[in-house]
Amino acid sequence: MREAAASGLVSLRFRHRVTRLTKSAGVIEGVAGELLEPSRAARGEASSRGVAGDFALKAQAVIVCSGGIGGNHDLVRRHWPSRLGAPPKRLLSGVPEHVDGKMLGITETAGARLINSDRMWHYVEGIHNWSPIWPKHGIRLLPGPSSLWFDARGNRLPVPLFPGFDTLGTLEHIVKTGFDYSWFVLDRSIIAKEFALSGSEQNPDLTGKSWRKVIERATAGIPGPVQAFMDKGEDFIVEAELSHLGARMNALTGENLIDEARLRAEIEARDREAESAFGKDLQLTALRGARAYIGDRLIRTARPHRILDPRHGPLIAVRLNILTRKSLGGLLSDLSSRVLGDDGAPLPGLYAAGEAAGFGGGGLHGYRALEGTFLGGCLFSGRIAGREAARAVR
Ligand SMILES: Cc1cc2nc3c(=O)[nH]c(=O)nc-3n(C[C@H](O)[C@H](O)[C@H](O)COP(=O)(O)OP(=O)(O)OC[C@H]3O[C@@H](n4cnc5c(N)ncnc54)[C@H](O)[C@@H]3O)c2cc1C
Repeated sequence: MREAAASGLVSLRFRHRVTRLTKSAGVIEGVAGELLEPSRAARGEASSRGVAGDFALKAQAVIVCSGGIGGNHDLVRRHWPSRLGAPPKRLLSGVPEHVDGKMLGITETAGARLINSDRMWHYVEGIHNWSPIWPKHGIRLLPGPSSLWFDARGNRLPVPLFPGFDTLGTLEHIVKTGFDYSWFVLDRSIIAKEFALSGSEQNPDLTGKSWRKVIERATAGIPGPVQAFMDKGEDFIVEAELSHLGARMNALTGENLIDEARLRAEIEARDREAESAFGKDLQLTALRGARAYIGDRLIRTARPHRILDPRHGPLIAVRLNILTRKSLGGLLSDLSSRVLGDDGAPLPGLYAAGEAAGFGGGGLHGYRALEGTFLGGCLFSGRIAGREAARAVR
């Protein structure tokens, strides 16, 4: 992209917000919108949304690739699938504010058809970012398999809803409990080995392309970004004693739903199984299965141990919130990425790609697609849209 921009093939227009597609004789011929005032905000800081003027651009073809709807909770709730129960009252945003879905409405107004709007992928391990970049900014925990997962009332989640196993199944289960949060209970040894955080700011070793720091994941104890959440994150409770942990869980939600004796009984029941290789706790079986793979054993799964063993303490409870992320519905398009209208015919001059076109998983990989498969579909549909648009205007 930089090369293309340097050679004059591409012109990048930052801080241009499209509010309208322009049309002439039924053909989409450009975009118009607002110019946002200049901003010197650094990466990772919120930039001003103040409007300084407007703009209009003409083009032989327009490709809408404006992303999903996860930053717009009204839209998420409006399209919330009934099979997942009532939409949660409280949501965190796992995507920036600009992922507002407005371009979908704008493109619909221009004649496009929207489909599968109720297909969405939200995470159940959201934590409030202690250093937010956008409103209600949540970070997704990428958990290993050892944390014990409890619903708001302190019931252990049913098999096989273990950490990292079945995002949509767990989402459905949690929403149907009537609460919009759940709990992980774990200890220092588990957090040191098993907690990773999603997002480039949270993984300086990967974004900094440092092999040395990646290798330190296996040896260096609690990673810095995770420790920062333990120290400053409003969803984290760290206590040596289970009684204090339970009391603070109740204080955090103000709902008094956690019964310490029951919580202790659940953890002790699991702990009894932890020291036997033949234990019948299926989460421990899954943990042992994960450790059969050397990569997981080195940097992803803690050695099975008793959570209430003080040598592995302190204890940690994490309130997990529902975090919006990915949209699988969007603009109906054909195999050439041409946007189709209600009559099934292409809207001349208009193409769509990426999450806006439902290609972050929905079209290519199926609804319950493996979690990391969004980017590929977005890039692939972008390539098709670009090639087809170029061919059409040649
Ligand atoms: C924290 C995080 C972690 C993720 N991790 C993974 C992962 O591990 N694997 C994976 O496959 N996927 C992951 N995803 C999802 C993946 O990043 C997205 O599905 C993908 O980036 C969507 O690409 P896109 O180009 O369709 O949309 P986006 O990347 O959202 O880009 C849309 C662009 O359109 C612009 N835009 C929107 N509206 C307007 C408008 N009105 N006018 C002008 N410009 C507009 C936006 O500013 C933005 O630049 C993650 C997403 C997040 C937020």
